[in-house]
Amino acid sequence: MEPGNRARVEAWLRYGNDLDLGPYYRDRVAPARAVDANADAAFESSEPAHHAKAAAAGQEAVSTVRVSPPSATSPVAGAPARSSSGISPAAGPSLFEASDRIEGDTLKLIRETIGDCTRCKLHKGRTNIVFGVGSMKAQLVFVGEGPGRDEDIKGEPFVGRAGKLLTQMIEAMGLRREDVYICNVVKCRPPENRLPEKDEITTCSPFLFRQIDVIRPKVICCLGSCASQTLLQTTQGISRFRGEWFDFRGSKLIATYHPAYLLRNPNAKGEVWKDLQKVMAVLGLQPKRK
Ligand code: URA
Repeated sequence: MEPGNRARVEAWLRYGNDLDLGPYYRDRVAPARAVDANADAAFESSEPAHHAKAAAAGQEAVSTVRVSPPSATSPVAGAPARSSSGISPAAGPSLFEASDRIEGDTLKLIRETIGDCTRCKLHKGRTNIVFGVGSMKAQLVFVGEGPGRDEDIKGEPFVGRAGKLLTQMIEAMGLRREDVYICNVVKCRPPENRLPEKDEITTCSPFLFRQIDVIRPKVICCLGSCASQTLLQTTQGISRFRGEWFDFRGSKLIATYHPAYLLRNPNAKGEVWKDLQKVMAVLGLQPKRK
């Protein structure tokens, strides 16, 4: 194999292992395709795999966020309830605990409080703060990781390629983008699209928690490791608890793979579609008719 390609494949395998996807890589066999075909039909995307750079950045950043091995996890007060998988939040201070509900809070007030934020180093490279978009009465909130280039320019979350796929996913669920609320763990673009670092997450996530508190959605859908690990206060790989329900301050929370991950790994769409169908069942939604 050509050395450049080999390095890229190896980076991907390491990234997959970080996400606990080792078995997935080893078992890419026919049965999985049957589910994938349904998912492709549900939220059609012919986007090619992309971003060798993102793969490398993701690999590096996933290890940055991991602060302790999965076996070292234990529940903490104020963290979300344990799911049937037995995954439990990581030991350590709960970010969520640190931000109690604020009486009379509104999205406008939260945005005003953020102001022209310089609380963390991400402000240095940003064009726009990407606050969040959608209905303040949404029953469903999607939480991503942080703005990318397109989002930074536009000041709106999920408007790039991954965003287009997220929109297709939302529409496949029988909803429109404006029916849900979409936001991120951090509100400023990390340089080179790397994962947000721990200090950045600690600084920015209280604003996300306030947004969730104001909206009080029925369901929170975490997209990818960063969002799910932040809200669930765990260091475990997302594939350990993806698709399971957690309680999160009165909302039901489910984690699924990030749309950017799906662009690189279209075979995982079937798993995501299964997760979204669980969300639809809770919200009483019917899939969009073609
Ligand atoms: N990826 C994210 O996690 N959030 C965005 O807003 C865009 C891409």
